[in-house]
Amino acid sequence: MTDWRFRNFRSHIFSVKLKLFYSRFVCMTLKKTPLNKDKLDQIVTDARRNQELREQSYRGQALKLYPWVCGRCAREFDHKTLTELTVHHKDHNHDNNALDGSNWELLCLYCHDNEHSKYEEMRFDVGKKKSASATNNTSHSPFANLKSLLDNKK
Ligand SMILES: [Zn+2]
Ligand SMILES: [Zn+2]
Repeated sequence: MTDWRFRNFRSHIFSVKLKLFYSRFVCMTLKKTPLNKDKLDQIVTDARRNQELREQSYRGQALKLYPWVCGRCAREFDHKTLTELTVHHKDHNHDNNALDGSNWELLCLYCHDNEHSKYEEMRFDVGKKKSASATNNTSHSPFANLKSLLDNKK
């Protein structure tokens, strides 16, 4: 009786070992299979869906937090026109989605567009001013020296 039980136990252990070995083997072969196109497509679709979900969720949050009014032109929105009301990120960082809504601003499509072109212009202006001041500094001093030299000769 005990011998039979023992043998049964041993065969049980053996089958567990076999299962472990088999699963390890399956894992190894799975790891070695290169990513096929379907899988890559799936990953890309998943990433895109996650991005969409994230956008939907912060948009939903912002629409819950703030009245449906454009922060610039004060145009009011309802369920029919809501698609024209967008969520703008004040610091222009779409990853900064503070849950208190401090980085969000509801803007209509036109004002949102305006806001972004203003931002681009500002960035462009800063770049222009920087390069202008750099050329000013280099061209200013030789002329000043020249003028003082001419003044001394008089
Ligand atoms: Zn507006
Ligand atoms: Zn924006």
